[in-house]
Amino acid sequence: MTQQQLQPLEENWETALAIVAHPDDLEYGAASAIAKWTSEGKTVTYLLVTRGEAGIDGMDPKETWDVRTQEEIDSAAVVGVNVVEFLDYQDGVVEYSPALRKDITRAIRNHKPDLVITGNFHTRLAGGRTNQADHRAVGLAALDSSRDAGNKWIFPELVDEGFEPWKGVKRVLVSGSPLATHAVDVGEFIYKGVESLEKHDAYIKGLGTGMDPEMFLTMNANATGSRLGCDYAVSFEVYDI
Ligand SMILES: [Zn+2]
Repeated sequence: MTQQQLQPLEENWETALAIVAHPDDLEYGAASAIAKWTSEGKTVTYLLVTRGEAGIDGMDPKETWDVRTQEEIDSAAVVGVNVVEFLDYQDGVVEYSPALRKDITRAIRNHKPDLVITGNFHTRLAGGRTNQADHRAVGLAALDSSRDAGNKWIFPELVDEGFEPWKGVKRVLVSGSPLATHAVDVGEFIYKGVESLEKHDAYIKGLGTGMDPEMFLTMNANATGSRLGCDYAVSFEVYDI
């Protein structure tokens, strides 16, 4: 596959809501960029659709629920994110639905972000393998809810709940996309990203693949950096709302 050059991402925003399916989704790349942004005074909040309780083969989901919740809170803190919310959908069987869009729309109206960050919703991962079902449902719902948030006639019951329309989301960034067009030079913040991924210790051990967070993230960021013209970069597909 030809690797096209990437354009520098505009970073003229102040607040972001990062919406993904599972604990660890943001830590496989986006977290390094989030560390850079929070160090500059931007505010980033996390919204996790599930607790990732189906993610560890050798552990009961009830136990995994608690373990992975804490791992996500710890990994968020490493990159300057202090608010982590969960929608508590069942891991592995998340469906693209009006109910999911409504729950995400409520969160967007509540937090009023300038920017939404989400995960790859295409059928393939950037490396060509098949993407996971929850990722597809959540990423697409996050994109659509970024528009829904500004329309008072969609989910009018949210207005009754006190969540007024929010038209402020100008852009959605999709991390891990095979169709990435832009990237952020993360420099030394790559190591904050590594530290953030390392917080998913039980999950990574459960994979049993011997994946080394530092090697994995620095190799990926270095390859992305070569398409932007720097040492370490994180890529995004960009949608204007
Ligand atoms: Zn995931």
